[in-house]
Amino acid sequence: MAVDFQQLAVEGVRGLMPYQPGKPIDELARELGLKEADIVKLASNENPMGPSPKALAAIQAELADLTRYPDGAGFELKKALCNTLSSDAYQVAPEQITLGNGSSDILDFITRVFVNDGDEIVVSQHAFAIYELVARMVGARTLAAPAKDFGHDLDAMLALIGDKTRIVFITNPNNPTGTWLTKDELTAFLDKVPERVLVLLDEAYFEYVDEAEYPDGIQLLSRYPNLVITRTFSKAYGLASLRVGYGISSPQIADLLNRVRPPFNVDSFALAAAAAALSDDDYVAQSVAANKAGMQQLTAAFEALGLSFIPSVGNFIAFRVPEAMGAMDVYNQLLAKGVIVRPVANYEMPQYLRVSIGTQAENATFISALTAVLS
Ligand SMILES: *Cc1c(COP(=O)(O)O)cnc(C)c1O
Repeated sequence: MAVDFQQLAVEGVRGLMPYQPGKPIDELARELGLKEADIVKLASNENPMGPSPKALAAIQAELADLTRYPDGAGFELKKALCNTLSSDAYQVAPEQITLGNGSSDILDFITRVFVNDGDEIVVSQHAFAIYELVARMVGARTLAAPAKDFGHDLDAMLALIGDKTRIVFITNPNNPTGTWLTKDELTAFLDKVPERVLVLLDEAYFEYVDEAEYPDGIQLLSRYPNLVITRTFSKAYGLASLRVGYGISSPQIADLLNRVRPPFNVDSFALAAAAAALSDDDYVAQSVAANKAGMQQLTAAFEALGLSFIPSVGNFIAFRVPEAMGAMDVYNQLLAKGVIVRPVANYEMPQYLRVSIGTQAENATFISALTAVLS
């Protein structure tokens, strides 16, 4: 009798659906017989400028040590992070940092450290898909509070917190909606969350936000010991391929997170490139400025096409496909024209598509393809 290995898998894994990433350029090129250079990918919120030249130089220099294991403690990167993230108001110490193979790693660590089989996590409707994935893996249940105007309804999330709740996931700004929470909204919420419940504040798009009322989560760490912040080098820092992100928390929580961290989870190139990228303020400033211009380019086009969209402070925007057409239909027709965007039906937004802000030329290609598809 053949063994059914599905039945041997732990329960949390049996019902798991793998994360669906944006469609890779080479995959579409293979499927359609297109040249990769003719494809525009605006599906994964990557920085269209490419990496900082300083990051590239750091990678080159690192090649000489290819045969050595990386620094498992990430000493230099943590030092660079402490320099960059510390302010007069709050000093970040290396003991507060957990390095991840992407910030997704930290989401996995925190659930493995704090969530038992049968426990609950609280998220918002339209939240990042990875939260539910990491919770399910450990056998936890996800409770999602209905969104308010596509953003987090913190009162509704608070109402879902119960005895079994271990973590609340907050994304600021949220992906895929681009909505954001003010400092007052966030602190009013944090004041009411029981201290035994962890709050993971995912700030993957922190660097892009230019709003006076937008909070810097790190500044809240001294007030809320149950708070864990995650950030990443995948978005504004343009290093998605290297997989490097980090968590910032109290030293006590960081110590626990580091216990489940696989040895050498961040490679030497990622460590070196991330540290170098932190030193390139001009690169980040240019990226943010280009994003702002690209956002205007896209919203102007949506308005001209009569399409509604969700105002976004990230490097992406979700727009509504006219009722007469299906979003998947528009997605597939855009693919046929070599433009990759992101369907968000799995985020309970079946009539929407999310598009990342590209270069001016990429945005123009997307706009003309979309105009053709809709006409
Ligand atoms: C892109 C993204 C991340 C970052 O993922 P990495 O693993 O760091 O590449 C985390 N959270 C959200 C909401 C994101 O959109």
